[in-house]
Amino acid sequence: KNLKKYYPIFGGFFRKQIGEVKAVDDISLQLKYGETIGLVGESGCGKSSAGRTILRLQDPTSGSIVFQGKDITTIRGKQLRDIRKDMQMVFQDPYASLNPKMMVGSLISEPIRNYTNQSDKALKDQVMELLEKVGLPADTYYKYPHEFSGGQRQRIGIARALALRPKLIIADEPVSALDVSVQSQVLNLLQDLQEEFQLTYLFIAHNLSVVKHVSDRIGVMYLGRIVELTDKRTLYQEPLHPYTQALLSAIPVPNPGRRKERIVLTGDVPSPENPPKGCAFHPRCRYAMPECQEIRPVMKEVKSGHYVACHLYSK
Ligand code: SF4
Ligand code: MG
Repeated sequence: KNLKKYYPIFGGFFRKQIGEVKAVDDISLQLKYGETIGLVGESGCGKSSAGRTILRLQDPTSGSIVFQGKDITTIRGKQLRDIRKDMQMVFQDPYASLNPKMMVGSLISEPIRNYTNQSDKALKDQVMELLEKVGLPADTYYKYPHEFSGGQRQRIGIARALALRPKLIIADEPVSALDVSVQSQVLNLLQDLQEEFQLTYLFIAHNLSVVKHVSDRIGVMYLGRIVELTDKRTLYQEPLHPYTQALLSAIPVPNPGRRKERIVLTGDVPSPENPPKGCAFHPRCRYAMPECQEIRPVMKEVKSGHYVACHLYSK
């Protein structure tokens, strides 16, 4: 709720703080048990920062994080360690997140060893079961990460994330490093596992096509803020925010008979160090009005469950 994560920028001879990057700038989001929210935006929009902050991998600047009814915003030590069991992250680059010197069996059982005291046999049984759940052969146990393809490594990363039977998984671009042909296999696996393990997902992606099939609701981020949030069907069929409309128009239409206008976003994403005044999207928005340069639009529920931050809908 009202989550902010600002990073200081240091510069000059004395390395003094000369500014800050408002990576996450006041976002509120409520994940329901068992649902998947897709969080989408261009690189640098703050979506990964938001994910890491929600998991308390870094401290928020302000705002609060409530998990399963418990305020975890400032908990530390044993309390934080306990809650970490229930929240796991799946990373974009599975290879970078797996220790290359560890056997896959040890990699997957490591989280369990950190939290419980179990016999080697019990640990191995659990790893074997996890390997099966993620669709990897049993001999994976004795191999090393370099022996696997990108898709297989992501399956290893997923097995490791599942080892402690978490409730929430934040998947940060889990398929963007994979070949297109492998992407859908990993997405299908994540969906199957969601059902089997009753998982809740926050699914971070940089474009709207990847999250289309997996999400129940979608939040669109722009420069540290969520600008639109609604259920998947509404977002794809009746997008309201001009930025969402532009992102959607960039997805190729499968049926060439149905022509659609492609909205070209002009200009680069402005620097989050120095975001435009008013609506941060105004330099790129084709509907920009004078007030957009001055007044920052707030999130408003335009229709039931459909939230948008844009002056076009604030009347
Ligand atoms: Fe465009 Fe103005 Fe809406 Fe921002 S507030 S998206 S500039 S119309
Ligand atoms: Mg990222």
